[in-house]
Amino acid sequence: MPETNQNDLVSKIVALCKRRGIIFQNSEIYGGIQGFYDYGPVGSLMKMNWKNLWWRDNVTRRRDVVGIDGTIITHPKVWEASGHIKNFADALVECKSCHKRFRPDLIDNATKCPECGGQFTPARKYNILFHTEIGVIEGEKMPAYLRGEACQTIYLDFKNIVDSTRVKIPFGVAQIGKAFRNEITPKNFLYRTREFEQWDIQYFVHPSEMDKWYEYWKQNRMDWYQKLFNNTKNLRFRQHASDELAFYAKKAFDIEYQAPWGWAEMEGIHWRSDYDLTQHSKFSGQDLSYNDPVTHEKYLPWITETSGGADRSFFFMLLDAYHEDILENGETRVWLQVKPSIAAYKMCIIPLAANKPELVAKAETIYQTLNAKYSIDWDDSSNIGKKYRRADEIGTPWCLVVDYQSLDDDTVTIRDRDTMKQIRVNIGDISSWLEKQLQSV
Ligand code: ATP
Repeated sequence: MPETNQNDLVSKIVALCKRRGIIFQNSEIYGGIQGFYDYGPVGSLMKMNWKNLWWRDNVTRRRDVVGIDGTIITHPKVWEASGHIKNFADALVECKSCHKRFRPDLIDNATKCPECGGQFTPARKYNILFHTEIGVIEGEKMPAYLRGEACQTIYLDFKNIVDSTRVKIPFGVAQIGKAFRNEITPKNFLYRTREFEQWDIQYFVHPSEMDKWYEYWKQNRMDWYQKLFNNTKNLRFRQHASDELAFYAKKAFDIEYQAPWGWAEMEGIHWRSDYDLTQHSKFSGQDLSYNDPVTHEKYLPWITETSGGADRSFFFMLLDAYHEDILENGETRVWLQVKPSIAAYKMCIIPLAANKPELVAKAETIYQTLNAKYSIDWDDSSNIGKKYRRADEIGTPWCLVVDYQSLDDDTVTIRDRDTMKQIRVNIGDISSWLEKQLQSV
């Protein structure tokens, strides 16, 4: 996309998201609140599709992975056991002149304020867990936290899952759920927010098989993203240096995306050994070990974790899909090259003239037929050019137009988002035509 300056890209996406009902700043009528975003009518459909694809490929289509849906608030001891109360802290410096606050690691440990050149205060550590209270009577309230990462619930439910299902090691537990971090510097739209969703898999294995499964998941997750992004050269692994590794990790890799501001983490593939189950055994006093039904060996399973951001990856997917073309008439065409499986609507049904009842009635019949199976859009608003522009901007792969010829020969025009080419299809063949197109993604 040579005509789009990469630095403008984030602001273009933000504007497009607002213009087309994909994502809004939360509480905008009150001036907004930093680090919180809402998905609009189009965006909520797209995000649901995005999460459904993850769930389909990691849970539904696998016999060795089961899913859970855990709560946001847990027993506060969970966060002592996990180390979050002690260690979930970011350093913060404040500029003595303009009073802006920064995380030193996110400004390359600069010694002067990047905004005004002022002096910094000494760095102080702030815990980024959100606090709340359980109970209503003063003096009896129990302090609690909104979960800082979603995955803890999987460890808490581990014993119940083993006891209530037929899972046998190796097996995984998957979850998509909200996490909350009181980030010091939320920025870059959905990249760093204070409320977001994570998609996690904790894959439990025998310690002797850890290496094999770690490598398996590392590649599996990269393959998955490569399938859904257009520019796969913008995806890479970054191996953590030895001084970045937790003491229990033999290795760690991030899947990174080349964002307009540089390579940025999208998902982490973590070697967690038996750290989490050991901690929760210790703090809860419960035995969380696994009894192998065949060998009768009793042990604490080791874990490979894949932990990604559903919103952060959604944002990267939008950056990857954004196109601007200059048309022959000099107009700029903006279009999102999202996979049809992610698009909010698979097709937009358009009667050429909204004031011609025969055209509207025919279009309505097609709409009703397709809508029973797929998410289908309907547009009888303005002129045809504007309808195409809107469909392109939200990534609708095909527009179907019912025109005057349709009344004579029962055919319609189908226009392709990516090529803008049009074909004529018999009305009776539309359903199977669409089904065929959607098989490939
Ligand atoms: P970062 O270094 O960017 O803060 P992290 O290493 O703390 O991320 P993890 O704790 O491993 O992140 O969380 C797993 C995933 O959750 C990340 O790869 C990212 O996609 C997502 N994530 C983490 N923090 C945020 C946030 N503040 N906003 C949006 N997504 C986030």
